[in-house]
Amino acid sequence: MQKRLFGQTGRQLSILGFGCMRLPLLKADDPTSIDYDLATAMLRLAIDQGVNYVDTAWPYHSNSRTEPGQSEIFVGRALKDGYREKVSLATKLPSWLVKNRRDMDKFLDAQLKRLDTPYLDFYLAHNLNSLVWPGIKDLGLFDFLEAALKDGRIKNAGFSFHDRYSIFEDVIQSYDWSFCQIQYNYLDVNYQAGQKGLKLAADRGLGVVIMEPLRGGFLTNHMPEELRQMLAEVRPEWSLADWGLRWLWNQPEVRVVLSGMTAREQVEENLKIAQAAGIIDEKEQEALERVRVFFRDRLKVNCTSCGYCLPCPEGVNIPKNFSFYNDYFLVDSDQVRARAKFYFNGQVAPHETFVHCAHCRQCEEKCPQNLPISDFLEDMAKAFG
Ligand code: SF4
Ligand code: SF4
Repeated sequence: MQKRLFGQTGRQLSILGFGCMRLPLLKADDPTSIDYDLATAMLRLAIDQGVNYVDTAWPYHSNSRTEPGQSEIFVGRALKDGYREKVSLATKLPSWLVKNRRDMDKFLDAQLKRLDTPYLDFYLAHNLNSLVWPGIKDLGLFDFLEAALKDGRIKNAGFSFHDRYSIFEDVIQSYDWSFCQIQYNYLDVNYQAGQKGLKLAADRGLGVVIMEPLRGGFLTNHMPEELRQMLAEVRPEWSLADWGLRWLWNQPEVRVVLSGMTAREQVEENLKIAQAAGIIDEKEQEALERVRVFFRDRLKVNCTSCGYCLPCPEGVNIPKNFSFYNDYFLVDSDQVRARAKFYFNGQVAPHETFVHCAHCRQCEEKCPQNLPISDFLEDMAKAFG
C-alpha cells in the first residue's frame, strides 16, 4: 500500500484510510447493531494489507447526533490483538455538544476509555462550521488542545469541516493545526473548502484527509447509464469507484482518503484500487470533465457558494440551502432526493433554513451571479416541504 508523508506530523500514512461510520449491521434499521465479527474481519483485513489510518467519531453508529454511538467502542475492541499498535487512530470532539471548557476534557477522557487506548494519534474538532466555530473557539478550544497535546492524550490536533471556503480560511489561520479533514470529490471541486481549501491547507503544511470521496455513494450508485458507458469506453477495466479514488490520489496534496466501507467486497475493491493508483492521464481527465459538465447543466441553482450574499438579516444560510436543493434534483431518483433531505436536516441548523426567508431581496443585490435567491428559496420550500 502506497504511503504518503502526512503534512508535518512525520507520519507515513496509507493513502486509503478506514472510516468507521458505515460498518456492517446485524439489523438494517438499527445503526447501533454493528456486526462485530464481520466488521472486525474487514478492518483487520485492511490493516493486514497496509491501511494504517483508522477514523471514528463520538456519534458514529448512534440513533442521533446527541447520543454516543457504538463505533468508538467497536474500534477499541477490533484493535485488540496487536492491531492498535499498527495504526494511527483518529476520533473527534463532538463540537456541537460542547457547552463549556470542562466538556472538552470530559469528552476526550470518555473517548479514550471507549476506544480503550491511552492516547489518540489524531484528534479533530468535529464538523466545524459557521455555527459552532465562533462558540467553541471562545470556550477555549485551543487551550484544551494545547493541554491535551502537552499531557500526551493526543498526538496531533486537527479539525473536520463543513461550510464555505471563507470560514475554512478563518479556521485554518486561527491555530497551528497539524491536519484537517474535508469533503472533496471530482464533482465537488468548488464545494465547501474545495480544491482551493485543499491547496491552502497543504501550503500551510497540514496533512489533508478526504471524506466522502464517492459523494456518499452517489458517484457509484447513481451514475446515469450514458455516463457509465462513456467512462467504460475510456477505461473498461475501471469501476466507478476507481474513477473517484484515482482522481483524488492523482493530487499530491491529498494524503489520506477515507472510505466508509460496509461490506468485505468494498474493502477488497478499495485495497485493489489503492494498490494500483497512479497518474490520471489527459483522456481520463477529459472523461471526468464530461461527467462534471453533465451534472453542472442539471444544477437548479448556479450558486458558487461564494458567500457574498451573507449575512442574511434573517439568518438564512443561502449557499448551504442551495447545495442541498441542487443535490435534490441531480438525478431522477427517490433515493437521491431522500438523501438530500436527510443531509439537509442533519447539516443545516433549523434557524438557517429557507423557512426564515422574508423575501427582502437584500441578498440579491450582492450576488455576483444575479440569482433570484428569494424565488429559489420559495421553490425550495415547495420541494422540501
Ligand atoms: S431575501 Fe431572504 S435570504 Fe435574502 S436576505 Fe432577504 S431574508 Fe435573507
Ligand atoms: S452570492 Fe450568489 S452565488 Fe454567492 S453564495 Fe450567495 S447565492 Fe450563491
